[in-house]
Amino acid sequence: MADAWADGWRGPSLVQVAGGVASIVETAPPGGVDGTLDAAILPGFTDSHVHLGLIDADALVPGGIARVLDLGGDPTALSARAARSAGENASGDPALEVEYAGAFLTATGGYPSTRSWADPAAVRELASVEDAIAAVGEMHGFGAHVIKLALHDDEAVLDGDISRAVVASAHELGLPVVAHVEGRGSAARAADAGVDLLAHTPWSERLPDALVDAMATRMRWVSTLDIHGWGERTDDFEVARDNLARFHRAGGEVLYGTDLGNGPLPTGINERELLALVDAGLGADALVGSLARPRSGTRPGARPGGLISIIPTPRPRELGGLAAWLATAQAVPATEIQEMTS
Ligand SMILES: [Zn+2]
Repeated sequence: MADAWADGWRGPSLVQVAGGVASIVETAPPGGVDGTLDAAILPGFTDSHVHLGLIDADALVPGGIARVLDLGGDPTALSARAARSAGENASGDPALEVEYAGAFLTATGGYPSTRSWADPAAVRELASVEDAIAAVGEMHGFGAHVIKLALHDDEAVLDGDISRAVVASAHELGLPVVAHVEGRGSAARAADAGVDLLAHTPWSERLPDALVDAMATRMRWVSTLDIHGWGERTDDFEVARDNLARFHRAGGEVLYGTDLGNGPLPTGINERELLALVDAGLGADALVGSLARPRSGTRPGARPGGLISIIPTPRPRELGGLAAWLATAQAVPATEIQEMTS
């Protein structure tokens, strides 16, 4: 392999495919080398914020995405979709790997229960701490990998006690909590409640440095910069870009995510999202890591997907070129490497 990524670029590498899983090996396996391939290989690219119920999910793998984290949808449909993918992966016919939150947990009458796009099956309105505990247990029963909490300060708002009960019961079950924050003050409330991830870079206000620094030590943010203007530099985009730049500088971990299903976004790798991450100051390693990182923080023991990313052209050194190059990745079964080698 001409180049390989595993938490950093390894350069020319020996890749072994066994049991449908590709791994980089330091020394040649017994039996020698089958062939060479002039391409870069990376872990399957992940979009950490999608809504499968609102898109053509079958277009994701052809668009270069190997894994998704669905952050809000009908839990029955999602668990069925994920089981289908897991079955295909187990039978050696690699498919899109699906992790999911299940329903949005929100206040009574809260976001997104009022939205036309929100399937009623995709929302649980919480009126009490007891409701919170029950809803988290229900999503866990559906096989959820994370719990999605909606904190929208411009609409009906959850009590702090209820938010904290969601986080406590999710953590008891080993599930991280990802929050939708929108409106002034909502990011601080998410931090107070102890959530683990933000589903979006906050865009409603410029966050104070102290809050950004505190979040960077214990939270991960899903980027979703491109939903603000789809390439136009809107005010919301600039606020989000500035928040993300400071979060990244403070050491915060950024996950590539697009909120696919929300607006005119390409079904696949979104080059504009990657270019926006470059604009927010992510360097080459953080940029690749945002896409190619194994999904730590989701349910432990999840089987790695059988799809890997492969790019058949040489890696550019310049950052803008790197973003464009990453967007050309193909998601392929690891076994296909063997067929492609010469
Ligand atoms: Zn979303």
